[in-house]
Amino acid sequence: MLPYPFAEYNECRLCPRNCGVDRTTGPTGYCRSGDQPLVASVCLHQGEEPVISGPAGICNVFFAHCNLQCVYCQNFQISRVKTENAFWITNQSQVIEQIIGLLAQGAKAVGFVTPTHFIPHVRSIVNELRRRGLFPVTVYNTNGYERIESLKSLEGLIDVYLPDFKYIDGKTASSFSAASDYPEVVGHALTEMYRQKGSNLIISEEGLAMNGMLIRHLVLPGFGSESIRILEWIAANLSNRLHVSIMSQYYPASCIAEGHPLKRRLHEDEYQLVLAALENLGFENGYIQELESEKHYRPDFSKAHPFG
Ligand code: SF4
Repeated sequence: MLPYPFAEYNECRLCPRNCGVDRTTGPTGYCRSGDQPLVASVCLHQGEEPVISGPAGICNVFFAHCNLQCVYCQNFQISRVKTENAFWITNQSQVIEQIIGLLAQGAKAVGFVTPTHFIPHVRSIVNELRRRGLFPVTVYNTNGYERIESLKSLEGLIDVYLPDFKYIDGKTASSFSAASDYPEVVGHALTEMYRQKGSNLIISEEGLAMNGMLIRHLVLPGFGSESIRILEWIAANLSNRLHVSIMSQYYPASCIAEGHPLKRRLHEDEYQLVLAALENLGFENGYIQELESEKHYRPDFSKAHPFG
């Protein structure tokens, strides 16, 4: 029996939603998560950026529910706070055993996906793996809506930060994620990650990211100019030597209503403007998705192997 090191759930202020609810008595906060993990899948994933997946694939732990609730969420099958599924893992020991099984199959990295509302469990899982003599590369794959204090609690436990930078306009953030403070919050969060990691992403000889940070940005249809402002912000406030991943995989998920401005795919011309800005700003490290790649990145969390 593991100790219960999760006092933060007693009055949860893990993320900027700052709910202050007691999660030990039930899922009452914005993320509708209690004090036991909600894990939709622990699986080997080859589809991340090459340095994140590595040659063997990354063991991804997909937490269910989310503190952001974007209207267009590409993983809406598991992120929606009203969703429950009898197949989800709600026991930390079981999560750890599945991770260990995938590490035994050759995975060298463990990714925590949408982990913000379960940060105490993330810390506990990494500590337990280390206690058992296992030191995979740990990847923190987040939407960027993070509190500085929570990120500080991960220092020394997370090797690679993989944050999104979704919006730089508060109106967009309010419309699509009910988080008008997202631009300010993500700016502070990225600055804290940068303080911890700097601009250098250390990559092993076999091509696996070992330490550092890589910022992801999903270009939304109709919002290319906001994407460009995001790149400008990174170059001006952090560094254009950082690794960035520009993603074109957006697709209008079935949760998007007909007539919504996001009910279409990205056009080639608007994507090319973003890529031109990337070059003009001097970014040289990172990844650019091909526009047609959106076909290949759709997980189906109703299946045992969501990316199969
Ligand atoms: S983690 Fe959940 S309960 Fe805690 S502050 Fe964020 S949204 Fe609220």
